[in-house]
Amino acid sequence: MLLAFDAAGEDRHLVIVTQVGSQPSTAGPAEYFTGNVRVDARFQGSDGARVAGGTVTFEPGARTAWHTHPLGQTLLVTAGVGLVQQEGQAVQVIRPGDTVWIPPGAKHWHGATPTTGMSHVAIAEVLDGSAVQWLQKVSEEDYAKHF
Ligand code: MN
Repeated sequence: MLLAFDAAGEDRHLVIVTQVGSQPSTAGPAEYFTGNVRVDARFQGSDGARVAGGTVTFEPGARTAWHTHPLGQTLLVTAGVGLVQQEGQAVQVIRPGDTVWIPPGAKHWHGATPTTGMSHVAIAEVLDGSAVQWLQKVSEEDYAKHF
């Protein structure tokens, strides 16, 4: 990164530390998530950077709706045991230390297992003001049929 910065209020090249606790936890909106989902440590790039994301925590049984990301998404699993599924493919179990790449435009969902919660850091690039396109909910039948 550029090291050039000055003291004349020109702070766009300065490193910014956003302290834990400075952003309230928010609930995952019911129109896009099933079950109890919490989002923390949201982040958004600036000065032309497209990266955005946050830490998402799913209680047992909670999951996203089906969705796509215009420029893909990376998930870094940090706690618990989770699930990810691409449309037409088998469900995959994800655990702390796993990384997941969702290709651009791939229809998928992610969430907790029925019995164990899961947290991941979600990172995606914004295209035309959005990093996600939401689709229909993952039905109980579709969610449960894999177990
Ligand atoms: Mn996703």
